[in-house]
Order: sequence, then C-alpha cells, then structure tokens
Amino acid sequence: MRTNCVKMDVDNSCKIPFRGLKPGVYTYDFQVGDALFEMFENAEIQHGNCHVRVELRRLESMLDMEVQILGSVTAPCDRCLEDCEIPVAFEGNLVVKFSDEVREYDGEVMWLSPADDEVDLTQYVYESIILSLPYQRVHSEGGCDAEMMRRFRIVSSEELDALEAKAEEPSTLSSESRDRLAELRRKMEGGDDKNN
Ligand SMILES: [Zn+2]
Repeated sequence: MRTNCVKMDVDNSCKIPFRGLKPGVYTYDFQVGDALFEMFENAEIQHGNCHVRVELRRLESMLDMEVQILGSVTAPCDRCLEDCEIPVAFEGNLVVKFSDEVREYDGEVMWLSPADDEVDLTQYVYESIILSLPYQRVHSEGGCDAEMMRRFRIVSSEELDALEAKAEEPSTLSSESRDRLAELRRKMEGGDDKNN
C-alpha cells in the first residue's frame, strides 16, 4: 500500500485516470466552480465553489472511493429572493466495477467497461452537491435583503385589490403573477408568520 497525493486544478471536470495504478490508496483533489454549474444548466444554481477530495482505494478488480465535498453554492433565498450562499458538506462512498455488459449506475456502483482507463466523477460530484442542499434555502437570521423585505411588506390593501381586479381577466396575468398574488395575500392575512 502506498499513498500518492495528486493535486489537480481542473475547474469543470473530475476525472481520475486509473490505468496502470497499482493496488493501494490514492488521494485526488479537485476544485469545482461556476463552470461545473453552467455545464448542467440548473436554473437556480449557477454559482458555487467546492473542494472535492477523493480517496481512491485501488483493488484488483474494482475501485472503492470515499468522496468528500466541502464548499458552498449560491441560490436565490426563499424569503427575500436575493442571492444566498448555502454551505455544502457531503460525504459519500462510490464503488466502480467493470463489466462488458452495459449496466446502469444505481447510486452505489458505477459500471465501466474493462477498456476504460479513467473514471469521470463530474456528474456524480454535481448531483451529490445538489442532493446535499437543504430543502429550504434562506439567509441566516437577519441576513435577508432589507430593501427586498420592505418591498414585500408595504403592499397596501389598495394595491392588492388592483392586482386582484387584474386577475379577473385571465389573459393579463401570468401564472407567475398569480403565484405572487397568492403569496402576497397570504402575507397580508398572516403577517409574515411563515408558520401560518
Ligand atoms: Zn434572504
């Protein structure tokens, strides 16, 4: 067994060439940034910066990888809609096996052809980041954009009536506006109490 530390500065892909690796444990580091998120075209998450560490155990017939991802991504805040930095902390295990048959990746075992000489973890890393994010994405207490929050609060009942009158004419209001109207109404009725 020997440990070999390889530092890589690849911004948009995480590929590990394993051809010729003797059995042992190897560590790979990747830095992923905006290019990764642009590649997968997620409307909500377009920016991020994460460090990926892969500890690869090369066995005779398979690769066993411990993957750790630490960093953050930027997404719109659910409360004030301004950009909000969300921490990312992921740890997972991924096994790579080899087969001539084409087999689906089932979330635990990734299958490669015996002819392959590198494993591409780019999609795995991207999906792991997205899946690790909390369902609710909000600024920490007091961190919301004050101006945006004020704008949401000052809607008067006259303005609400005007919006509702518009809503009577179906063609003039997009479903987006409809959703916003429902949201405003909820806020007017229940204050800004999200437990309402
Ligand atoms: Zn916020």
